[in-house]
Amino acid sequence: MTATFQSKLPNVGTTIFTEMSVLAQQYNAINLGQGFPDFPMDPAITELVNEAMQNGFNQYVHMNGLPALREALAAKALQLYGNNIDANEEITVTPGGTYAIYTAFTALLQKGDEVIVFEPAYDSYIPNIEINAAVVVSIPLEFPAYSINWELVKQKITSRTRAIIINSPHNPSGALLTATDMEQLTDAVRDTNIIIISDEVYEHLVFEDKVHQSVLKYPELYKRSFVCFSFGKTYHCTGWKMGYCMAPPALMKEFRKVHQFNCFTCNSPIQYALATFLQQENAYRGLGKFLQAKRDFFMEAMKATRFVPLPSYGSYFQLYSYEGMSDEKEKDLAIRLIKEYGVATIPVSAFYKSPVENKVLRFCFAKKEETLAAAAQKLVNV
Ligand code: PMP
Repeated sequence: MTATFQSKLPNVGTTIFTEMSVLAQQYNAINLGQGFPDFPMDPAITELVNEAMQNGFNQYVHMNGLPALREALAAKALQLYGNNIDANEEITVTPGGTYAIYTAFTALLQKGDEVIVFEPAYDSYIPNIEINAAVVVSIPLEFPAYSINWELVKQKITSRTRAIIINSPHNPSGALLTATDMEQLTDAVRDTNIIIISDEVYEHLVFEDKVHQSVLKYPELYKRSFVCFSFGKTYHCTGWKMGYCMAPPALMKEFRKVHQFNCFTCNSPIQYALATFLQQENAYRGLGKFLQAKRDFFMEAMKATRFVPLPSYGSYFQLYSYEGMSDEKEKDLAIRLIKEYGVATIPVSAFYKSPVENKVLRFCFAKKEETLAAAAQKLVNV
C-alpha cells in the first residue's frame, strides 16, 4: 500500500508557466510565455564565475552571503535609493527572489494571519501564504491600468492583517507604483503592525521617463519591510536563481532563522563574480533603455496584428487585449495560439486565484529581435 498524507497545498497544480512552456515545446512554438531572455548574458560575468571557480572559491561562504557582495549591494542601495543599509545586519543573499519572498512570509506568518495580495499576482505569493496557514485577502487591481484602489485597501485592513505584498514593476501588467501610491501605502499602514513585502525583482526594467519607487527610498516604509530582488532579471541569468533580501535588523534576524535551515548559503563562485561585476554601474543603469528598445520593437511589429496593447512601463512584459477578436477564455485562446499559430503567451487569468477574464494575454518581450519579429508575423492572421 502506498502511504498517503494530507496535501498542504490541495489547490495547487503545475504552474501556468510550466504548462505553457511544455505545450510550446511540444508544438515547437515561439515561447513568449515564460519570462526569460533568449539572448546571451554578458560574457564578462560568466568569465568572472569561471575565474572564481578556477581560483578555488568553491566552498561554502558566509550563510548571509559573501561579505564583499553584501558590501557592494549596500553601496548600490545607498547610491540609488539613499538608504544606508548595513551590509552585515540588513542583507541576505538568497537562491532567487521567489525564495526571498517565501522566506519572508515563513518567518512572519502565524496561523490565521491575513495577508493582502493584489491580483493579478505573481503565482508564488498565494501558495506561499497558504502553506503557512495564513489567509489571503485578495484585492483586484483596477483594469485596465492595474492600479491600486487605496480606499479598498483601507477597508480590507483588519486587526488580523499581518502583511501586504506589493510588486513594482508589476508582473504580469508592467504597471508601476507611483510616489502617490507609496504615500497612500505609508498612510494605510501607519499606526498598524503591518509588514510590507516588496517584490522589486524588475527594479531596473523601467521605461520612458518613469522612476522605480523602491521601498528603500521611503524610510517610514522600509522600517517595516522585506525588500526582495533577483540577479536573474538584472543580469539576464534567470537560471542562476540568485537574489537577495534587504530588511531592517530585527526583521532580518527572523528571516535568517528560516534561511539558515533551508538554504543556509548560496552558490559561492557566482557571489564572487557578482561582487566584482556590481562595480559596473552602467550594466544596470542601461537596462531600462535596453529592454524598452525591445518593447518598442515588439509593439511596432505587433501593429500588423489585431491585438491591442495595454500600456507597459516596466518589467519583461506587455499585455495585449483581444477584445473584439474572440469570445474565448484567455487560457483557451493561449492554448489555441500555441497549437494553431505557433506562439506561446500566458493568460492573465492565471494570475488570479479565481480567474478573472479581461481578454488579455501576457507577452514576454525579453527576446532577440528576430524572435519578436517572427512571433508577431505568426499572429498577423489571428
Ligand atoms: N517576482 C516576480 C514578480 C517575478 O516575475 C519573478 C520571476 N519570474 C520573481 C519574483 C522571481 O525571481 P527568481 O527567479 O529570482 O526567483
